[in-house]
Amino acid sequence: MEGLVVRVSDWSETSRIVTLFTREHGKLRALAKGGRRLRSPFESSLDLLNHDRMVLIRKTSGGLHLLTESSQITRFSGLAKDYQALSGAYLVAELLGDWVEENDPHPGLFDAAIGCLKDLEQAACADGETEKGMPKWNPRDRLVVLELALLIDLGYRPELTGCVGCAKKAEKGSAAFAFGSGGLVCRGCRLDQRGWRELPERCWKLARNLVAAIELGGNGWAELSVSEESARREVRRWLGEYLSWIRGRRPRLMGWQEE
Ligand SMILES: [Zn+2]
Repeated sequence: MEGLVVRVSDWSETSRIVTLFTREHGKLRALAKGGRRLRSPFESSLDLLNHDRMVLIRKTSGGLHLLTESSQITRFSGLAKDYQALSGAYLVAELLGDWVEENDPHPGLFDAAIGCLKDLEQAACADGETEKGMPKWNPRDRLVVLELALLIDLGYRPELTGCVGCAKKAEKGSAAFAFGSGGLVCRGCRLDQRGWRELPERCWKLARNLVAAIELGGNGWAELSVSEESARREVRRWLGEYLSWIRGRRPRLMGWQEE
């Protein structure tokens, strides 16, 4: 099977426990015996964020699966060239490790995550295209479209076309987004909501277009990368708050991108 290493911890002197987000089976936790030895059957394929092909002996009664073989498909080693891109990639691992349930496959999200890591690596390696040592684009923006894909895939699709209370279509001006209902609420309906925040028109419109682009099978990146920085910044903030609201805490690796 094919998987991405999203968490690694030491189990003993010689073995490791790896959390994998696999394309076929969703998240799995597996024991890699000998995974800490220099000359192990896994070589360096068990490092965080490696994209591997692997063989598992699956346990049916819960508990850890046993990883018997693993070989590297992609290592994304170029990420190390840029701190922001690398932090973004760690956030991808954190989100997948925390949000996806065990044995719940999401192949579309898996492909979206690999695409995001490839783009982050490309940004990290874009020599000569940087200003003041920063990539031309903000790696956090690339995360925005992955975060939206994650929300859509896991059943938290934000409703941004009309009011979730009375279906009144959102038109001009700022609108309120209710975190508990996961959508926009009109002035009349927002009184019933706890936890809402105002979204400027450019923010909810951009987010709505991104959701539509992702649902049409794209990744939304083409749309986002040409939009205004002020709108992107607002979408980043709103999405960070929405993710935090659902999980009850802010993703640990989201702090680095605060402006
Ligand atoms: Zn309403």
